[in-house]
Amino acid sequence: MNTPAYIGRFAPTPSGYLHFGSLVAALASYLDARAVNGRWLLRMEDLDPPREVAGAQAAILKALESYGFEWDGELVRQSERHSEYAALVDRLLSQGLAYACICSRKQLEGSHGIYPGTCRNAGHGFTDAAIRLRVPELTYHFIDRVQGDYRQHLGREVGDFVIRRRDGLFAYQLAVVLDDAWQGVTDIVRGADLLDSTPRQLYLQELLGFSQPRYLHVPLITQPDGHKLGKSYRSPPLPADQATPLLIRALRALGQTLPDGANYGHPAELLRWASQHWDATRIPRRLTMAEAQLR
Ligand code: GLU
Repeated sequence: MNTPAYIGRFAPTPSGYLHFGSLVAALASYLDARAVNGRWLLRMEDLDPPREVAGAQAAILKALESYGFEWDGELVRQSERHSEYAALVDRLLSQGLAYACICSRKQLEGSHGIYPGTCRNAGHGFTDAAIRLRVPELTYHFIDRVQGDYRQHLGREVGDFVIRRRDGLFAYQLAVVLDDAWQGVTDIVRGADLLDSTPRQLYLQELLGFSQPRYLHVPLITQPDGHKLGKSYRSPPLPADQATPLLIRALRALGQTLPDGANYGHPAELLRWASQHWDATRIPRRLTMAEAQLR
């Protein structure tokens, strides 16, 4: 079999149930893949057991199924890939590209989330320490298919970032880059809240010799108070009996044309129709969108 030209993925974190904002992201990545007969993979980003909500993994899979999504191949769980992440962290440490950091949260207060480099040359031992990746004093940029040109100076705007936490848990930035490359992902379609993580991921890809995927960041759906929908608000699970109307609302959020008529049929049929009519250039070029305006 030839390697398909397009491999997309949806990568939910089970720290909550799927909500309308995650449905918009899942739908965009699904339709973008299916519109070109690409593959669509599902990866559970269960890296952080303390933040995991009991039953969320099963509820996410069930919601995706009842909303008509079909993924290719086996579900991948990041919790089963710890040895790969550990090997990568070891390699980065032994190459001097990463180092141990023992700064406390309190010490980092006032640095506005930009690590000041305190432990860079301290030579701390690797146990009971966070591991940070050294970043270059360079601007990383890419052209997002919806958001356009995005650039960030890693040294000034991010600083050396954590790839393994002090409690031993691996960081999202490390796992996502390794797994996307390992799974052969060519196209990353996700919420705009991750736009500012992308330059860190580009740097890791460059460091590891991986090719750069294409990116498409869809508007983030927000609550009336401007906050991101979801996790911290403990959104209720997407109701199974509302699949078709919520998929229609999500298509509207993505600026897509809708099928005629009040009866849109079964969710899987609606997804098929939508993939045949998918036009990513119609996605609104904005970072956020209020959920209330879509009702
Ligand atoms: N697991 C991340 C989330 O649920 C998404 C990661 C990604 O798409 O790169 O927010």
